[in-house]
Amino acid sequence: MAIINNKIMQKTHKIYEGKAKIIYATENPELLIQYFKDSATAFNGIKKAEIIGKGELNNTISAHIMSELAKNHIATHFIEKINNKEQLIKKVNIIPLEVIIRNTVAGSLAKKLNLTEGLDLPHPIFEICYKNDALGDPLINEDQAVYALQLISKQNLATIKNIALQINSILQKIFININIKLVDFKIEFGYDLQQKILLADEISPDSCRLWDLNTAKKLDKDIFRQDLGNLIDGYQEIINRFSSKNL
Ligand code: C5P
Repeated sequence: MAIINNKIMQKTHKIYEGKAKIIYATENPELLIQYFKDSATAFNGIKKAEIIGKGELNNTISAHIMSELAKNHIATHFIEKINNKEQLIKKVNIIPLEVIIRNTVAGSLAKKLNLTEGLDLPHPIFEICYKNDALGDPLINEDQAVYALQLISKQNLATIKNIALQINSILQKIFININIKLVDFKIEFGYDLQQKILLADEISPDSCRLWDLNTAKKLDKDIFRQDLGNLIDGYQEIINRFSSKNL
């Protein structure tokens, strides 16, 4: 239960439901509750399943990572985990861009350019996709985001790129510490009520590719995408490794 200024934060009504999360309003116009569903989807919603326990694991992992990022001076929407499946967050207006950073070739980059999965890149790659289900979240370039779709200013896009690369460096250290390679990840940003840019959404094995450093065993949503076994085991393994380091 979240208590802010001696007041219990209650959900008032649902304001958004996505494929993996639901956002609820609270009595405080600056605060929202983010609920992690057990639904798993892939390939823009074509493949779907209910995987009991996934929401709880992602809530725990994302809460931990967001807290670590905050300790490293990254401004995020995350306030606190309030129960197994929910966290209290700051209200932001989401910028409709999926920001992707890649350290190693995998997924759509491997497919599009016919590159070998697992090839380490000499420099992190920054990509942006337009968040639009009807269009299939297409990869776009920076000028298209700024001048064609007019989603963001050139300056704010440069700020986001800078923050995303900083987040990458921090996350790489967090994961190396538990013997995991951060292959790639997707993040989203929004503006708070003061128009400050905050990291939003989640950072979890649903939105990152995470491979065991020694065996390259996949511990992320590719387990579901590629039918590699039990997704819960992979996600739980990440939590176990954090716990074994008292993190
Ligand atoms: O599929 P692709 O290789 O472009 O994905 C890059 C990264 O972004 C992966 O970690 C994937 O899990 C994440 N992603 C995501 N949500 C999407 C698309 C990609 O979290 N809609």
